[in-house]
Amino acid sequence: MPRRLLVTAALPYVNGHIHIGHLVEHVMCDVWVRFQRLRGHQVAFLCADDVHGTATMIAARKRGISESQIIREMGAAHVRDFQAFAIAHDFYGSTDSPRAKAFVEDIWRRLVQAGHVNRKSVTQLFDPVQGCFLADRFVKGTCPKCGAADQNGDSCDKCGATYAPTDLKDARSTLSGAVPELRSAEHCFVRLEDLRGFLEEWTQRSGALAGPIARWVKGAFLVDGEPLRDWDVSRPAPYFGFEIPDAPGNYFYVWVDAPVGYIGALADWCATNGQERAAWWPRRDEPGYADPSVEIHHCIGKDITYFHTLFWPAMLQAADWKLPTRIHIHGWLTVNGDKMSKSTGTFINASTYIDSGLDPAHLRYYFAAKLNGSADDLDLNLDEFVAKVNSDIVGKVVNLASRTAKFVPTLAATYPDDGGLFAAAAAESEAIAACYEADDSAGAIRRIMALADRANEFVERVAPWTLKKDPAKAAELERACTISLNLFRQLCVYLAPVLPGLAESCGRLLGCPITTWTDAQTPVTGATIGPFERFDRIDPAKVAAMVEASRPTDTPPAPSPLPPPPSPATPSEPLAPEVTFDDFAKLDLRVAEVLTAEEVPKAKKIVKLRVSLGSLGERTIFAGIKAAFPEVAVLVGRRIVVVANLAPRQMSFGTSEGMVIAAGEGSSAFLLTPDAGAQPGMRIH
Ligand SMILES: [Zn+2]
Repeated sequence: MPRRLLVTAALPYVNGHIHIGHLVEHVMCDVWVRFQRLRGHQVAFLCADDVHGTATMIAARKRGISESQIIREMGAAHVRDFQAFAIAHDFYGSTDSPRAKAFVEDIWRRLVQAGHVNRKSVTQLFDPVQGCFLADRFVKGTCPKCGAADQNGDSCDKCGATYAPTDLKDARSTLSGAVPELRSAEHCFVRLEDLRGFLEEWTQRSGALAGPIARWVKGAFLVDGEPLRDWDVSRPAPYFGFEIPDAPGNYFYVWVDAPVGYIGALADWCATNGQERAAWWPRRDEPGYADPSVEIHHCIGKDITYFHTLFWPAMLQAADWKLPTRIHIHGWLTVNGDKMSKSTGTFINASTYIDSGLDPAHLRYYFAAKLNGSADDLDLNLDEFVAKVNSDIVGKVVNLASRTAKFVPTLAATYPDDGGLFAAAAAESEAIAACYEADDSAGAIRRIMALADRANEFVERVAPWTLKKDPAKAAELERACTISLNLFRQLCVYLAPVLPGLAESCGRLLGCPITTWTDAQTPVTGATIGPFERFDRIDPAKVAAMVEASRPTDTPPAPSPLPPPPSPATPSEPLAPEVTFDDFAKLDLRVAEVLTAEEVPKAKKIVKLRVSLGSLGERTIFAGIKAAFPEVAVLVGRRIVVVANLAPRQMSFGTSEGMVIAAGEGSSAFLLTPDAGAQPGMRIH
């Protein structure tokens, strides 16, 4: 019975690059997806960037660019990194998509209508300079318990105490250094206790959670006699996110719209691929809601378990959406036994791995050999990584082909008697499949490597390299190679979810692509043998180079202070006297692209810009925007607006051939940027 499987990996946050920790999850998810496809099931594998929240807003302010520019840049980088590791997402979206927004608003409306939402005043620390409320991680101060200085907003590294950021002594905003003020604002809350009966049932008895996870959720959140705490789902402006329709000036907390991004990505994929959203993720009134062959699977790390086992199912249930069939949870990645760390070079980005010349297939294999279906942490030991990949893949699997493929031009016309080796390995098929189904790729690989050991014993025994020397033994040689290459192919079928490239290479070698799991049941005979493609060993020098490249290069630059935010509280400048249209038409405003930006040693407030006006040529403009752009390099490449027909102005450091248009002044200057598509030289009317 074919299943229809919607599979998601957790959404990477837009604020950083993909690193090997993300890859654990995406490899786990991709192996499961490829396995299901080989088994003949229909799969949609979706992911998206999680783009909302204060961190994106702060990053955009720091770089003096828009949030949407960060989203475009990082989205492209994430897709590139995942593709390099052969992660076969069908679609990679973004949580700010208009379809996602419509689903967020619809789910919200249903929560409100069902009476699950209430409003309460919340007192929080507020940064008066940045003009925003401060999440715990943006506050530092002295531990209220042990007095250690410079501790986090929610916990002390020195004594381990946990507390509210309002309990800190000498609290400071890490955004501006200002002393935070206490301010109150009305927040929206979802009353999870309303849905407690459902959550008990779904977490403990639906089969969606593995036993240990279900017990952890029960013990941590669903304690008998203790009501579930209301969930604070809104953040007051300024916040980068979706505004709450019935609470203007308030935005959905990023953890409301992040999981809805799964549905948004599905709808975006459906819209461009001729699929029906309801066929993959039905609502209660749609066919498929109760159909057990329509399944929803989320793969996540254990750190976000409670979002996916309490808040998310509660939202879906209250808004009448089909519930997840299973939550697949993995543990954290350590490297050489410790947390990933920049200083030791073990915080390794996906792109650094690739740039070091290492093969992504090797890391896929190593992670798959460690992932066992539990939420236990897994360790990437770099020495073991080299040894295991070289011994298993090169030494045991590829070896079967490399030692026999070049000895004979074709496989025997009928499969020879191999003493039951092929049949025994074919009989392992369902046991290996059961491991993959349960996310236990480690168990699958143990069984596959046991088969590889038996195949290698056979090759050692018949020694094709000796048979090759005796022309009288040509038929025996053909039989030996036919058996060895078929045992190799069988292993490639079983490893195809983990090593799709190896499976493809095997398909080319024997002129017979691997397309289904049952390819392991039938030997290939009579085929012409194609060229053998090498599968290289890992060079430990490349691993060392990768670690070196992951260390910080220099002393990190001192954090530059954040430019102050737009301040809506400041009264607007009074209107200038009225002008006629003709007055306005005298000004020639043009789109310009910044080619270079330099500091001017003699003038601290000035930036020297070289800009292009397209066919009108280049200009040098001195602009008084240094206070807003302490790092002038961020200006290069930006499209801005300049007054192009202003009389040249002689200054002590040079002649300015125009003026840059900006809102505000000083450190609060904001450059204007045209919409995408505007070309340098275009006139502004
Ligand atoms: Zn302390």
